[in-house]
Amino acid sequence: MEELKSLADLLDLQRVDLEIDRLIDRRGSLPELAEYRATHEELETLRRRLAELEDEAKTTARELDRVGGELELTEQKAATEENRLYAGGLSARDVEYLRREVEMLRGRISQMEDRVLELMEAKERLDAEAEELRGRIAELDEAKARLEETIGAEWRKIDAELAVKEERKSQIVPLVDEDLLALYEELRRRREGAVVGTLDHGVCGVCHLQLSAAEVAEVVRQNPPRCIHCTAILVP
Ligand SMILES: [Zn+2]
Repeated sequence: MEELKSLADLLDLQRVDLEIDRLIDRRGSLPELAEYRATHEELETLRRRLAELEDEAKTTARELDRVGGELELTEQKAATEENRLYAGGLSARDVEYLRREVEMLRGRISQMEDRVLELMEAKERLDAEAEELRGRIAELDEAKARLEETIGAEWRKIDAELAVKEERKSQIVPLVDEDLLALYEELRRRREGAVVGTLDHGVCGVCHLQLSAAEVAEVVRQNPPRCIHCTAILVP
């Protein structure tokens, strides 16, 4: 009778243990966790891309400054040469030389203006893309924070349930015979799911296979009874 009592308590213990397993499994497999990881990875990628864009924008801005400065100097130089032309009093050869010089400078100015325009457009594109990315990053940061909150709340709920189950477990464990408990723990280490089942009309409650009347008679003589098919501890 004492032994049966212990076996029934072992079934209770298994029920609690399986609930604990289920809670721990749920804790680690919340759908929000996968979403959180994916969001985190996307954010990393976007931040790297943003850093690249910002770098490119900086380089473009520096190039724009450089070409802009050069353009200004060339314009000043062209204006000076033109003024000399307008002032007159030059030999025909000097006039021709200055005229060509101004023409060359104007050509370079035109090229530099094209380049400035190109750089300004590139800078604008880079800035716009960076701005869009910053917006997307801010959205994802918010989504990530929301997920963190949800996960935290779910975990607190699960942990509270776990605490209740652990408390229940600590009440049952002292009721179970020590050797039986050791065997149970050993079986649980070796495989997942149930390791204790009822023996109901010769059917094992774990593997659901039928035992013959002779096998049942043999099994219940053992201490503790074990299923001949799956070696689960059986509660007659
Ligand atoms: Zn079995």
